[in-house]
Amino acid sequence: MDKVIFIDRDGVINIDLIGDYIKTWDEFHFELGAEEALKRLNDAGYKIIIISNQAGIGDGIFKEEALWDLHQKMIEALNKQDIVIHDTFYCLHGKQEGCKCRKPEVGLFEKALTSADFDREKTFFIGDKATDIEAGLRFGLKTIFVLTGHGPYDKEKLTDTIKPNLMAENLLEATQLLLTQDELTKG
Ligand SMILES: [Mg+2]
Ligand SMILES: [Zn+2]
Repeated sequence: MDKVIFIDRDGVINIDLIGDYIKTWDEFHFELGAEEALKRLNDAGYKIIIISNQAGIGDGIFKEEALWDLHQKMIEALNKQDIVIHDTFYCLHGKQEGCKCRKPEVGLFEKALTSADFDREKTFFIGDKATDIEAGLRFGLKTIFVLTGHGPYDKEKLTDTIKPNLMAENLLEATQLLLTQDELTKG
């Protein structure tokens, strides 16, 4: 079995431009401590898989080439810091297309089954939206809700059924919680 961590992109790894899409590398800025978090996860043996809705493509707000250009630059910036992203799955459909991969649907996670071998019950998904938590739960994962990005707004949308296992200020704190928990279960 692989040790896998699923992470949402906008609002978790990078600063979300609330109400607008991240269309170019110029608009992409890592959240404070995000790179350190990713490095720690790598060092702890985690395969990092990014799961991200990018409806701006399907909705015609920016082009798919722009997404892949930005993606490539993000990967290069991380590689320079010896951080490896195992895989990334984007939903490029518009918001109203009714696809099976836009979170809270689980299609992107299903695709990840071909990329890594993981135990759903022991695997976490870290996200900043209630729909991230919902998707993770539907797929049978554990979830961590972070208070960056949409977190402060979406916190109100969490319910008794859409409820994360853990809550953290940001990706770095989520990582610390996760790694501490790993140590406890190991011992
Ligand atoms: Mg997000
Ligand atoms: Zn989709």
